Amino acid sequence: MIFRQLFERESSTYTYLIGCKKTRTAALIDAVKEEVPRYLQLLDELDLKLAYALDTHTHADHVTGAGDLRDATGCITLLGENAQSACVSEPLRDGDEITIGSLMLKALFTPGHTDDSYSFVLEHQGKSYAFTGDTLLIRGTGRTDFQNGNAADQYNSLVNKLLHLPGDTIVYPGHDYKGWLLSTIDEEKAHNPRLQVKDMQGYIELMNNLNLPNPKMMDVAVPANQACGQPLA
Ligand code: FE
Repeated sequence: MIFRQLFERESSTYTYLIGCKKTRTAALIDAVKEEVPRYLQLLDELDLKLAYALDTHTHADHVTGAGDLRDATGCITLLGENAQSACVSEPLRDGDEITIGSLMLKALFTPGHTDDSYSFVLEHQGKSYAFTGDTLLIRGTGRTDFQNGNAADQYNSLVNKLLHLPGDTIVYPGHDYKGWLLSTIDEEKAHNPRLQVKDMQGYIELMNNLNLPNPKMMDVAVPANQACGQPLA
């Protein structure tokens, strides 16, 4: 497997490149529009052909690079079936399997941060990796107060889906604002303050009292992402 964790500074977004050594095919998870030239250069340098550009959800803090990547490479773009976006190549559904050469990414529907949030699980050489988008962050969870977010759904996604993954699953989140790169399911179970609540009601109360300001780019990013990151008419 070829693997890169890439960082976009403005929105503290992590983008993940996953490539198959044998077939030289690759996927990018959560590509950022401004970084597309860098991704294309890296794909070229690593001799990889992009098969898929996936987004874990419709982002409110950056514009997706998926549309530009599709224009440049002919890749397939994937986004959850609940997304308000008519331009994606294929809608994602729970349990979908995305084949990248000899590798397989399994899509897990993990709504709550948004109603179109997905996580992706990869198993490779006896290890599990989970790309959790903004559902599970390192010592945090994605906010649930806009974009059809729902704290009860997120509690379910966390407790009944992601925390059921093997404890040593490596967690690769959609963002980190402090420079943490990765975690594990066990580590988050033990130390993520959002997961120390007693029950769903406790989680809902916690999430409903965060009082966060809206992301800077929200008014621009959401409509642009519903148009696959292409200029709006
Ligand atoms: Fe988000």
